[in-house]
Amino acid sequence: MRLVLLGAPGSGKGTQAKLLKDEFNIPHISTGDLLRAAVAAQTELGMAAKIVMDKGQLVSDDIVLGMLKERLAEKDAKKGFILDGFPRNLVQADMLDNLLAEINMPAQHAILIEVNPEEVVARIAKRAEIEGRTDDTEAVVRDRIKIYETQTAPVVEHYKKHEILSEVLGSGTIEQVQQRLLAVLRF
Ligand code: AMP
Repeated sequence: MRLVLLGAPGSGKGTQAKLLKDEFNIPHISTGDLLRAAVAAQTELGMAAKIVMDKGQLVSDDIVLGMLKERLAEKDAKKGFILDGFPRNLVQADMLDNLLAEINMPAQHAILIEVNPEEVVARIAKRAEIEGRTDDTEAVVRDRIKIYETQTAPVVEHYKKHEILSEVLGSGTIEQVQQRLLAVLRF
């Protein structure tokens, strides 16, 4: 299965992607996680990316695409993937279409997890306490939500046009949201 998960910061994408990974036994590929690993490894790329990430802005399309391309070339991604955090804008959506066409693995599903903005802020505040992410402060979260609304939300239309978009409600318990996702994927 080849799935693109979409949703605002704090929509629960990452949590749901981890559950789907176990369910379908395919890798969960999060560009945020790939970037955080580069930051932790203190690579040149990671150190440059950290400055951008800490402001809640987007890292350059080419850098993220390069990381994603390498990750998709790994053996475990041959049987499918759950993409989380990419594409973040329309340029990336086109880049992804081209990349997946090249490797003959087009996306089969794009699912938007919908949550209302107040819920997003509350969820991220909770995650900040648990994970201590440096980009989960209130001011940065506000900027990340703004970037989502202006740059990432149009990606939903991109997948609507490609006729692979489904939408699920992201409110309720983790299990309830997972059941909604499974219902779409098993249809
Ligand atoms: P995430 O874990 O998906 O919330 O991503 C955390 C941060 O990593 C974002 O706020 C961006 O700075 C950066 N990032 C993750 N994915 C991308 C992407 N596809 N394009 C650009 N920047 C990204």
